[in-house]
Amino acid sequence: MDAVAFAASPNPSHGPFYSSALLSPRPRAVCFSVRDPWRRRLRSLPALRSQPPEPAPASSASHHDVVVVGAGIIGLSIARHLLLHTPLSVAVAEAAVPCTGATGAGQGYLWMSHRTPGSDTWELAVRSKQLWEELAAEVDSLGGGGARERLGGVKTGSLLVGRTSEEMATLEKRTKVLSQAGIHAEYLSSASLHALEPELYVGQDGGAMFLPEDCQIDAFQAVSMIEKTNGSYSSEGRYLELYNDPAVSLVRSETTGTVEAVQTSKHILYGRKAIVIASGAWTRTLLHSFLEPNTTLDIPVMPRKGHLLVLEKFDKLKLNHGLMELGYVGHQVAKSNSTPISSESSEDKHGALSISMTATINTKGNLILGSSREFKGFSREVDKSILKCIWDRAAEFFPTLKNVHLDINENTEIRIGHRPYMPDGKPVIGSVPDLPNVLLVTGHEGSGLALALGTAEMVTDMILGNPGKVDFSPFSIKGRFSG
Ligand SMILES: Cc1cc2nc3c(=O)[nH]c(=O)nc-3n(C[C@H](O)[C@H](O)[C@H](O)COP(=O)(O)OP(=O)(O)OC[C@H]3O[C@@H](n4cnc5c(N)ncnc54)[C@H](O)[C@@H]3O)c2cc1C
Repeated sequence: MDAVAFAASPNPSHGPFYSSALLSPRPRAVCFSVRDPWRRRLRSLPALRSQPPEPAPASSASHHDVVVVGAGIIGLSIARHLLLHTPLSVAVAEAAVPCTGATGAGQGYLWMSHRTPGSDTWELAVRSKQLWEELAAEVDSLGGGGARERLGGVKTGSLLVGRTSEEMATLEKRTKVLSQAGIHAEYLSSASLHALEPELYVGQDGGAMFLPEDCQIDAFQAVSMIEKTNGSYSSEGRYLELYNDPAVSLVRSETTGTVEAVQTSKHILYGRKAIVIASGAWTRTLLHSFLEPNTTLDIPVMPRKGHLLVLEKFDKLKLNHGLMELGYVGHQVAKSNSTPISSESSEDKHGALSISMTATINTKGNLILGSSREFKGFSREVDKSILKCIWDRAAEFFPTLKNVHLDINENTEIRIGHRPYMPDGKPVIGSVPDLPNVLLVTGHEGSGLALALGTAEMVTDMILGNPGKVDFSPFSIKGRFSG
């Protein structure tokens, strides 16, 4: 294969996020410059993560109905749902700023193609998709341009791509199963796929499953829209957001022992009805520091690091849809419910790297190529060899990329995020046993954007004591973990 060569960064001052150059003597060179929209957002993170600041004497205390810890897509969506659909007041405390966690690295697929009808997450995914559609329609009704534009979104449909006869058999089966579940799904032969996506190469035996109703959003734009909605409740005293102010402990009532508040580095936030911990991959550590030392509860959420390569204003490849290779599904499909939590795969133990091709062009004309998965703790280091694998893998599907010289110091953005991975393949959404007003909401792994709105509705129903549109039980803590 005509691979692209990587060389060391000519400018180490680019910092840990953007380093490295891809150098190649190819005559048809296209150069890209590195921009760093993340630097401002992330500057404060490593210190926060490795050494939680000592709680300063609280300079202020405030009272709210619900306190949310973490302003990723999950925490912010929960705040939004509470503000829009209940009279409750909400405070959000975030260690850094929104999008610094997994959310800012998300590719933005709101897809049904890799969901399995009847699985524990199916109903949540269906409901969530419906809520995203409603959100888009609401924004449309406000006028002034398409909602999807403002969400950074496009409804291009999704193509789940296979290249071998085995993969095609799987796709054919999947097409039938999804169609029976009411999802518009089409099975495409190599020739029909070529008509839809001429630059994609899958060989004679290949093809795809096409879901015309699938869409994608831009995580930054969606978060910014949600922040705006939430912020509009500040003036009436129903919303407070505290950024760069990490939660450091829970405050218990001296008389009853119940959790009353969250102590952040600068404030005490009282939550009359509930405290929601939505701190993504950091939730396990945070919980350990929050709970009594002798607690046996352990939520085994782990950071699963991912790289995405964004090529700005890329005009060397034309894509009409969001794409993903079938191999990606293996990472997404929930493990059997009977799989014991302790039986992690060898990949988990050895931190092995896996790369699956995902490719899309967003509304700004940027080509987004993904993605990697590995267990490397909370490292935010850019791994050039992973970027090379992502590029090479993409070039297997899009041969035109083999003629493109890539310099990642030019017009390139590298996104790194830590998916909140759960060994049993489904999120945790529920109250902590013996602390009924403390809810944990994490573990959405590679689906947090897609599942955010359904999760937010579920959490709202839990807080209000409503039965809920989606069954809570698959996500609860009780009986699922030690303690
Ligand atoms: C490369 C990549 C591609 C992806 N693609 C997709 C996709 O196409 N579709 C999809 O649906 N999902 C995708 N995902 C997954 C999705 O991004 C995540 O599931 C989702 O963002 C998780 O959201 P979260 O709010 O739980 O976590 P996060 O976004 O990580 O937010 C947690 C927040 O908690 C904060 N925090 C931590 N500790 C504290 C503390 N002590 N006090 C206060 N705040 C704290 C953090 O700073 C962070 O902002 C992708 C992820 C990656 C990495």
